Amino acid sequence: MKYSIIIFVLISFFSKCEQDDRFTTAGNRMVQDQIVARGVTDSATLTAMRKVPRHLFVPPELIRYAYDDNPLPIGSEQTISQPYIVAFMTELIKPQKGQKVLEVGTGSGYQAAVLAEIVDSVYSIEILPELAESAERRLKQMGYRNINIRCGDGYAGWPEAAPFDAILVTAAAEEIPQPLIEQLKDGGIMVIPVGSMMSIQALTVIKKEGEEIKKETVLPVRFVPLIRSE
Ligand code: SAH
Repeated sequence: MKYSIIIFVLISFFSKCEQDDRFTTAGNRMVQDQIVARGVTDSATLTAMRKVPRHLFVPPELIRYAYDDNPLPIGSEQTISQPYIVAFMTELIKPQKGQKVLEVGTGSGYQAAVLAEIVDSVYSIEILPELAESAERRLKQMGYRNINIRCGDGYAGWPEAAPFDAILVTAAAEEIPQPLIEQLKDGGIMVIPVGSMMSIQALTVIKKEGEEIKKETVLPVRFVPLIRSE
């Protein structure tokens, strides 16, 4: 009896190790084939994308698709973005140690985790309570101590924690939210998909330089729309 328990524990342990190895391989392949192959070069971004276990951010029934080259549903009609888009947006804000970054649209918490591997602190706002709660639980369980999550309308930003070195919006806005521009540091960068759900949106990079706001569109994208609380 005692030996069969020991054997069971050993088998469970080794099959868990084998499964972890498979996910690590899938993660490395995802970075090489989908992200490096499309031109992302920032080493901090690539290291973070290799490190964060994406399969822990998708619903259990979709785990086998976690490292595929597409977005996946996460419930409440929302999605976790395609891995390449997460990496591309991360690279665009030029993340560095010592920085404070705001994300609007926590969703699964995956983008927040990727950022938290690089910068000092991440503030992330999610409008749907069920997603805010599950992301917070997940990130805490995974040991992230530098991510702060709030449930609310991200259009208004997080004034008490501002200003931010960078702001990343992961839902499409019809117009660029003025409060977010105000909460950017001088020299800060914001990345936001702009446009309506009907059309293809333009991933837009905004740079704040003193009084000047520079805008550049970099890629056609399709995100879920930013929900407004009335
Ligand atoms: N970054 C997420 C995916 C984003 S999907 C990830 O890594 O998984 C877009 C998310 O934005 C959804 O979860 C949606 O509920 C949220 N959202 C939509 N409108 C919002 C708003 N006004 N404020 C905050 N979050 C919002």
